[in-house]
Amino acid sequence: MVDLQQQYAGIKDQVDAAIREVFETAAFINGKQVAEFSRNLSSYLDIPYVIPCANGTDALQIALMGLGLEPGDEVITPSFTFIATTEVVALLRLKPVFADVDPKTFCLDPASVEKKISKKTKAIVPVHLYGQSAPMKEIMDIAQAHQLYVVEDNAQAIGGDYHFPGGKTQKTGTIGTLGTTSFFPSKNLGAYGDGGALFTRNEKLAERLRMIANHGQTKRYYHELVGCNSRLDSIQAAVLNVKLPLLDTYIGKRINVADAYDRAFAHHPKISTPYRAPYSKHVFHQYTLLLEGADRNKLQEHLASKKVPSMIYYPVPAHRQQMFAAFHSDREKLETTDWLTERVISLPMHTEMDEDQIKFVTGSVLEFLN
Ligand SMILES: *Cc1c(COP(=O)(O)O)cnc(C)c1O
Repeated sequence: MVDLQQQYAGIKDQVDAAIREVFETAAFINGKQVAEFSRNLSSYLDIPYVIPCANGTDALQIALMGLGLEPGDEVITPSFTFIATTEVVALLRLKPVFADVDPKTFCLDPASVEKKISKKTKAIVPVHLYGQSAPMKEIMDIAQAHQLYVVEDNAQAIGGDYHFPGGKTQKTGTIGTLGTTSFFPSKNLGAYGDGGALFTRNEKLAERLRMIANHGQTKRYYHELVGCNSRLDSIQAAVLNVKLPLLDTYIGKRINVADAYDRAFAHHPKISTPYRAPYSKHVFHQYTLLLEGADRNKLQEHLASKKVPSMIYYPVPAHRQQMFAAFHSDREKLETTDWLTERVISLPMHTEMDEDQIKFVTGSVLEFLN
């Protein structure tokens, strides 16, 4: 699905030098690379506060801890997402409430969110799925009307844009109360191990999040809050400092691959290519087709026989996961989520794909469907 070896080959000298510097200074934890990366990301996203942490799941957890929610408070999330988004809610003894998604964008459907609001609702967690922004204007309007926090799960869309009606553009993840991301190696801005970050415009909240990520500590050995230990290590920060300046180029390459895929699949009766919402710059973490009247399992088998990887993100939505049996009854339906779960298929998508590879992938798909 991704080719990180080839990508490394293109930046080997800089990455090796950056990592060597960490080894030589032996500042493995909280080295100067970490502060430098926080500054770099803050300037790239145009947001004043960036709090680095150990991974994208921790970032979501720390975000919810930082909002001071009480056990039983409700948090509205999509069910059509990676499990981390919803898992941290339950982990903190909050109640995940699943809203449905839009069949075109695959992101939270504001009408469904509104229906799920109760007296206990405290936050909405939109996910910018596959690299496309959720409809943030509508979500922010709902949040404002009901006094709710908004935590943007930006793990799949770092570098993406949201265009407000009227022309203002903001980076995804910088619109809500706070945003979170992951630097898992295969993400659009991937480290060479785990990593994550939170971002916010609120100075007080930023201070609190920083404290929570560091054992609730105000100064060393003085602990004001119950926190956790979640750090971005210096080696990962060093790698990210090399890769962040390349992020927009990498995104451009992903969009080129998506364009070529779109052209090959255009007007096919059994395929819907990814919808690109006019309000969003889609950064194509995934390139995900919707199949109509095609046997997805057989297509996957056919692709596998030709050594073309494909993935189903996600085969079981959160509301049907065993871990959430206590939170969701089978009578509750998320029609679009269930419908999508049976029809989506993601194709290889990365920065190193060349024309021949794209042709081979599209040829293999079309040969099966035609
Ligand atoms: C990857 C991902 C996460 C979790 O990130 P990790 O760094 O793997 O913990 C959370 N949410 C979404 C939508 C993701 O894709």
